[in-house]
Amino acid sequence: MLKLSRFKRGGVHPPENKDISSQRSIINADMPKIVKIPLQQHAGAPATCIVKEGDSVKEGDLIGQANGSFSANIHSSIQGTVKSIVKEPTPIGFLSDMVVIEFEGTFSGQVNSFQKKGSWEHISRDEILKKITSAGIVGLGGAAFPTHIKLNPPKEKKIHTLIANGVECEPYLTCDHRLMLEKGLEIIEGIKILKKLMNVEQAIIGIENNKMDAISHMDDLCNKEKNIGVLPLKVNYPQGAEKQLILAALGKEVPTGGLPMDVGCVVTNVGTLYSVYEAVVYDKPIVDRIVTITGNTVKKPGNYKTKIGTPIKDLLDECGLTEKPKKVIIGGPMMGFTQHNLDTPIVKGTSGILVLSEKESKEHDEQPCIRCGECIRACPAYLMPCTMKDLSQANRFEELKKIGLFDCIECGCCSYVCPSHIKLVQYFRLGKVIIKSDKKYIEHKTPVIPFN
Ligand code: SF4
Ligand code: SF4
Repeated sequence: MLKLSRFKRGGVHPPENKDISSQRSIINADMPKIVKIPLQQHAGAPATCIVKEGDSVKEGDLIGQANGSFSANIHSSIQGTVKSIVKEPTPIGFLSDMVVIEFEGTFSGQVNSFQKKGSWEHISRDEILKKITSAGIVGLGGAAFPTHIKLNPPKEKKIHTLIANGVECEPYLTCDHRLMLEKGLEIIEGIKILKKLMNVEQAIIGIENNKMDAISHMDDLCNKEKNIGVLPLKVNYPQGAEKQLILAALGKEVPTGGLPMDVGCVVTNVGTLYSVYEAVVYDKPIVDRIVTITGNTVKKPGNYKTKIGTPIKDLLDECGLTEKPKKVIIGGPMMGFTQHNLDTPIVKGTSGILVLSEKESKEHDEQPCIRCGECIRACPAYLMPCTMKDLSQANRFEELKKIGLFDCIECGCCSYVCPSHIKLVQYFRLGKVIIKSDKKYIEHKTPVIPFN
């Protein structure tokens, strides 16, 4: 095992609240009667729909073809009939075409129809990359960046280290924790597959030290492997962010506007590694994922293997609630997205559903900035959130860009510590959207962005 590490500056330690679900083994969620599968679940162009109303589909059938290389395939998560194609918001608020499929047939429990194809060791690198591309794998930690692009860097970028991200620093979430405990061997196989694919020398599995059972289990498994080691990390949000993880693991800073490949590494979430294993060994595309369903008012919180496209409402009905929720967040409380419509489906990047009661989601009115500097001290990206917010409010986007808006990782640490309850991160999300869309002005009197 490697020596305990952490990133050097900033960060916060919100209440973890992981004990609500961390001891609950992964179980299958009920089979949904209807799924709504968005064609835009990833960074990059939406997939092109290749089915139409009335078509019959099986689990794993391609329904959306990747639209160019910076896109990802989309597959049916159940067998049934295509009922319609609708345009609705995804959990992160983007409008996307969605394929609505009604389940048909019989089932006893939720069993995947994919069979093991034998050992992967003889498969060529090209074939491995082809299987990962075809399976529509994207980063399951939340960013949903198409994995086949990340794993295929330009020739001049030599990758020496693969970092497996098992940090799971967001409060409440425990799906990666359970996956490491229950599918550790498969994650190690996923690491070995990617080591072969990218010809990397070493792999490091980063895990925060509030998951000692996972650290010890993965360390036992690593003892049998060459050049794969566990790196325990001190609890400090956002330790799981790519740049902060690389800093803690290798002591290297990814330059502004750069990527992990610029410092010779690739970071991959442990859930993604498990999907890589399933894609290469079982030819299984992403049709399901583990979702933490949690909150103090959830009767049966836990980690549920859930079909992509399942409406949030179905899952909440299955888990039961002791009171009407005030707020439902997709993801964790720091970086998640509040949902206004519980018909929104689970997508590849959905790590959790967090239900908050009236008491837990008390909103405070924003007060004027008192120039305390707390947000600057908390920012892990060395930014000045209070100044950035002033520039955003004044529509001075060029200056905002110059002082590092695009270095902001939207971790929410600044908003968390602000005694004036200013939702700083929302100004930065909005600023990025405006700059990218080339708009020059925004009226700041209205709610900033349809997120929390
Ligand atoms: S400015 Fe961005 S990176 Fe810095 S704390 Fe706020 S959200 Fe995080
Ligand atoms: S933490 Fe809030 S009040 Fe303090 S300087 Fe930053 S924005 Fe202003």
